[in-house]
Amino acid sequence: MTKAPVYQNTLDLIGNTPMVLLKGPSEAAGCEIWGKCEFANPGQSVKDRAALWIIRDAERSGALKPGGTIVEGTAGNTGIGIALVANALGYKTIIVMPETQSREKMDTLRALQAELVLVPAAPFSNPGHFVHTSRRLAEETEGAIWANQFDNTANRKAHIESTAPEIWAQMDGRLDGFTCAAGTGGTLAGVGLGLKAFDEGITIALTDPYGAALYNYYAHGELKAEGSSVAEGIGQGRITANLDGAPIDTQFRMSDEEGLEWVRRLLAEEGLALGLSSGINVAGAVALGRKLVAQGKKDARVATILCDTGLRYLSTLYNKAWLEAKGLPVFPWLA
Ligand code: PMP
Repeated sequence: MTKAPVYQNTLDLIGNTPMVLLKGPSEAAGCEIWGKCEFANPGQSVKDRAALWIIRDAERSGALKPGGTIVEGTAGNTGIGIALVANALGYKTIIVMPETQSREKMDTLRALQAELVLVPAAPFSNPGHFVHTSRRLAEETEGAIWANQFDNTANRKAHIESTAPEIWAQMDGRLDGFTCAAGTGGTLAGVGLGLKAFDEGITIALTDPYGAALYNYYAHGELKAEGSSVAEGIGQGRITANLDGAPIDTQFRMSDEEGLEWVRRLLAEEGLALGLSSGINVAGAVALGRKLVAQGKKDARVATILCDTGLRYLSTLYNKAWLEAKGLPVFPWLA
């Protein structure tokens, strides 16, 4: 029996997440599809890593002083990660979030001792957008830093230095493809750069939701959004500093329905409760697996990110009235 890890410090619980072979997706793709279980982080999402790296980086640079405050604009998960890391290190947290995000994330942030500022959803060009609001709040708050997850490359460094080497080791140095969606792009660019450093031949693919502009950018060189998505935490309209230089070989675009179908199947058939960004990632991984098989890689191995727990979306993705209001299919056991 291998011994489960034992740590001296709660922050060491971040990262070193397990990987699991996904049966249904592997059958659908005709090759191995692996999920990196980022819901197993203490804040139950992939963003704990970025939070830890951003805060450690600000300590090293001297920008963040003992007892200081971390201010951030976030769809929620980064805020949860920051609040946990800040509590462990004696900092305060102020989180600015669009009021359209799930109720669970808001309640969680308040429960974790973060000060929560809700703003109306607005386009990035609007000064009231949550990112700009968080920057202003950081400037106005004594002893505060702005985490700036979109353009602070400590975010993608977390994935270059932790997620990518973990995946490479867990796959025993044999991986053909990796794909995920982008919010800040830290995960996609960081894991992509990190994996390419091990093996240039690994195909790195963007899986974009509708409503985001990156699919058209990587496919046609034009930042152009089409359609919309209810997925939280993903969907980017610009090349953030974290995305700049990401080694994207190919791209897919997935609808909420396609993502939700994998959320349903993984829950009903494999006992895994995931959020919609994970469902969209899995849909992309199946598409990438099929593409690699069609190219002759019969025993291809593809990895993706299972970004957060579905239990963060009980009032939305797992709620009949909400799904109906959005015109999305209702899981049969909720109908
Ligand atoms: N899924 C969820 C649920 C998220 O909260 C995020 C973070 N915004 C992502 C995916 C995307 O991660 P990244 O910011 O690294 O692109």
